[in-house]
Amino acid sequence: MRLFDTLSREARLLAPLDGRTFRFYCCGPTVYGPAHIGNFRTFVMQDVMRRALETGGMPTLHVRNITDVDDKTIRDSQAGGEKLEDFTKRWTERFHADCEKLNLLPPHIEPGAVEHIPQQIAMIEALVEKGHAYQSEDGSVYFRIASFPGYGKLSRLDARELELGKTQNTRASSDEYEKDGLADFVLWKARRPEDGENFWPSPWGEGRPGWHLECSAMIREYLGDSFDLHSGGVDLVFPHHENEIAQSRCACGGDFSAHWFHVTHLVVDGRKMAKSLGNLYTLDDLAERGFSAMETRYVLIGAHYRKPLNFTIASLEAAQEALAKLAKGVRQLAAKVPEGTMLKSAEFGPFQTAWDALNDDLNTPGALGGLFTGLRDAVKLEGEAAAEALAGCNRMLKALGLVLPEVIDHAETEVPEEIRELAERRWAARQAKDWGTSDAMRDELASLGWAVKDGKDGYVLTPASGS
Ligand code: AMP
Ligand code: ZN
Repeated sequence: MRLFDTLSREARLLAPLDGRTFRFYCCGPTVYGPAHIGNFRTFVMQDVMRRALETGGMPTLHVRNITDVDDKTIRDSQAGGEKLEDFTKRWTERFHADCEKLNLLPPHIEPGAVEHIPQQIAMIEALVEKGHAYQSEDGSVYFRIASFPGYGKLSRLDARELELGKTQNTRASSDEYEKDGLADFVLWKARRPEDGENFWPSPWGEGRPGWHLECSAMIREYLGDSFDLHSGGVDLVFPHHENEIAQSRCACGGDFSAHWFHVTHLVVDGRKMAKSLGNLYTLDDLAERGFSAMETRYVLIGAHYRKPLNFTIASLEAAQEALAKLAKGVRQLAAKVPEGTMLKSAEFGPFQTAWDALNDDLNTPGALGGLFTGLRDAVKLEGEAAAEALAGCNRMLKALGLVLPEVIDHAETEVPEEIRELAERRWAARQAKDWGTSDAMRDELASLGWAVKDGKDGYVLTPASGS
């Protein structure tokens, strides 16, 4: 697979450094509330990348952390009077349930920050020892960005911004900040009263690790000093990933990540998704409106990851139709396969175009298009050729992580309760030879889109439009 790399600004072939397993890290959720569909755009894209590599025969090692201690988790657990551990456990469980609904493969390793305080302290010690970090008068330990010449390469900070950072000698103690806040960033935060009981001992006094550090420490623990790929949403390029590179390269000396994969943000109706705008959706919000997580997944892979995705309710309706259409096509194809045929799975057959699109910078909309045209051609095949095509189709669906709905045939159409009831009353009127009421009810049914045909012992209801 060729994939665009944020650092080199070009599409590069993905190949494992160790020649065997593709080892990659994704920044995971901050567990202080339900994840929204923007977060899931990023997690779904990472899932499709992994599935595509595995479908192509490359084993993977997927590490994704849980941020269970930071400014936000501490703030909100304190506000609710709950222990940080209980609070984050609750939201982690919710996150896992949502991931399962979206058919996301669970990462092979899912470390939490609180479990890795000693590794984070060890990394700070190495940085202090090598002169890349210092303890300030407020008791916190900061990374000195002027000590790392490579700082700013990933996010292309220009020389002026870097100069400002050096000369102003500013420090940032919050976990998140904007580009113009370029500053030495915090590695260890000295204990403050508002942290409650969330502090740990360290060589620099009681406190807790800064957010950027946890990923560097866990990557070192599970992937070593050089690994294949690192990923997150675009908002993480600066400062989070820039800071991770600085910490890890200075403390460990390795190359850190060989490839950077960033997913562009999802917006809603053309606007940034925010609670205050009332356009922030979780999977539960969409379920309430009658849309399944699989329909959401379809929408999320419907746009290329490097383009902004404009989410609308109409796009969910379109996804519903598209999934039903795919399901119908697959069923038609399956009907062509002689019973007892073994499905061969090495080839893609009519789905080669779809597979090629997926491997060309993870072109998921192209892959979906190829799935439809592939099906159109495949349903014309017979016997063994149909069997091979079905196998190719199934591999493609698996690579995209799509699970198709059961196809409901016309004959199996569900009759809504109120229609059934109206038809029953009409039948009773007819039995009572009340022709006036019976005819009026037939008209009412027709206006609701249902035709009724009477027999000797009963009636048949059919949708009048035939759809
Ligand atoms: P967080 O839980 O805020 O740390 O975010 C988890 C992941 O979701 C990170 O990789 C973020 O970059 C990503 N993310 C946050 N908002 C969006 C969005 N609107 N669209 C796509 N990805 C996002
Ligand atoms: Zn991270």
